[in-house]
Order: sequence, then C-alpha cells, then structure tokens
Amino acid sequence: MFVFKTVTDLQQHLNLAGNGKRIGFVPTMGALHEGHMQLIKESRNKQCYTVCSIFVNPTQFNNAADLEKYPVSIENDMKLLDEAGCDVLFLPTAAEMYGDDITADAYDYGAIAATYEGEKRPGHFDGVITIVGKLFTAVEPDEVFFGQKDLQQCMVIRHLVKTDFPFILFNMIPTYREENGLAASSRNRRLTQDQKEKASNIYKGLLHAKQLIKLGHPAEEAIDSAKKTYLADELFNLEYFDLVDANLMQKAVTTEAPGEYALVIACWCADVRLIDNVLLTD
Ligand code: AMP
Repeated sequence: MFVFKTVTDLQQHLNLAGNGKRIGFVPTMGALHEGHMQLIKESRNKQCYTVCSIFVNPTQFNNAADLEKYPVSIENDMKLLDEAGCDVLFLPTAAEMYGDDITADAYDYGAIAATYEGEKRPGHFDGVITIVGKLFTAVEPDEVFFGQKDLQQCMVIRHLVKTDFPFILFNMIPTYREENGLAASSRNRRLTQDQKEKASNIYKGLLHAKQLIKLGHPAEEAIDSAKKTYLADELFNLEYFDLVDANLMQKAVTTEAPGEYALVIACWCADVRLIDNVLLTD
C-alpha cells in the first residue's frame, strides 16, 4: 500500500498509477474496524483503484473533549487496510488540508443537515461538508463509499455530490454489526464488555419498532414500546428515536406516502454517544 501525506504527492501518484482504473475513495477518521473494511471491500469489488484517507477532522467536532478522546491507532489501521487490499492511504496533516485557517465553511442544506445530528451537534455538518469537499477535490474519485451507519451524513454527502461533484458516483454501504447486533463503531472501544452487551439493545429496539410499524401499528406506539422493552435501563440516556423520511431527514408520523423511511436513534450509553438506524425497506 502506498502512503502519501501531501495532496501533490497523492495526485502525482494517482495520475500515473491507476492504470486507467476507476478511483474508489473511502474517507475515514481512522481507529478502523470491520465496518470501515466493508467500504474498502466494496470499492475493491467494484474493481476500483482504492484510496482510503485517515484524517481526524477538527472542524466537525462541536465538543473539544470529544476530539481529544477520539481514538488513534494508525499502525493497526495500516495493517487492516493492507490486509483488505487498499491501494493508497492518504494521511494528511491539518495544515495540509486547511492551511493556517482551520475553520469550516457555512452551508445551507436545509433540513437534511439541520435536524437530528445537525441539531444535536451544531456546526458538525459544516465541518463534514468542508473536509469531504476538500478531500474529493484532492482525490478526484470516480466513486465514493460511505456507511449507512451514519445515515444523515450519507444524505448530506449525497447532496454535496449532486451539487458540487456531479461526476462522482455515491455508494451507501449497509451497516456492519458486531455479533450481538451492535453497530461497529470506533466509540465502542470505550464501552466495557457489560455495556457492549447492553448496548446491543439499541439495535433490538430498532428492529422491534420496525416490526410493529410493518404490522401496521402507529410509529409513536411502536417506538414507545421499543423504548419500554429495550431502552429502560438506567445506563441509557436517549437523545432521539424517531421515524423519519430518510431523503429529507424529517420526522414522519406514518409510512403511508411513497418514499424511503428509516428509524433513527441517538442514545448515550454511560458516557459514550451511539447512533444507529434501520431502513424500513430492508
Ligand atoms: P468514521 O471513521 O467514523 O468517520 O467513518 C468513516 C466511514 O465509515 C463513514 O462513511 C462511516 O459511515 C463508515 N462506517 C463507520 N462504521 C461503520 C459500520 N459499522 N458499518 C458500515 N460503515 C461504517
């Protein structure tokens, strides 16, 4: 695997090395796990020359403590990427990406970036859009791969692609889960074994509510039932648990109108904030 730290070196390499292959790009913040590898594998399955970036983007953290606690495990990350057959790792510094001015631009994407994660983490999506735009400009990929685990991020990036990078093909990859159903996440490392077991109730709650909605129960009743059955433990502190129109990221009351619906959840498990979702169409 080739490793580059500057945009110039990366671009020089990609201009020659891709051998005419399409370039597939997987942006990450490192602390890699099997969930990230699913994206690398999908890029490889699609015969793309595969570039992964690792950059812990300071402008998307609205909470300085969260940025400080973000796990770093670069040696293990490189080993996993190598094993998965990643072709290139792009490992820039903050100065390389931002110069002297480490700030996000302001975007108005309407509800898709203003609700849920946008509301709970002010400025988060401005930081995400800013860095992803810079990375897309540096890598010039043909295809990009993002995880459904961060459904709202997928909707935001899909919008960015549509407006600013129309030649890129956007791929959303299903959430990879641990054996007990807990969505794989870098943050899971901060949970004890017992907390991890309990945190699997987040997915069980999503599936329970999904099943009830599919059986025709009102969404509110289905979600209440899931909360009582799976999320009553005092370990949990629920931030949101809603049915949404996935394309708009706006709360929905029923699934009657045609469209794509999802159940989305953010829940603190002790001092770790976890998010998850399921599509109603799966
Ligand atoms: P991150 O490093 O957390 O910013 O994530 C980088 C990419 O990996 C994003 O597109 C995430 O949605 C994706 N990702 C993270 N966890 C998972 C997972 N469990 N399954 C699938 N994709 C994931």
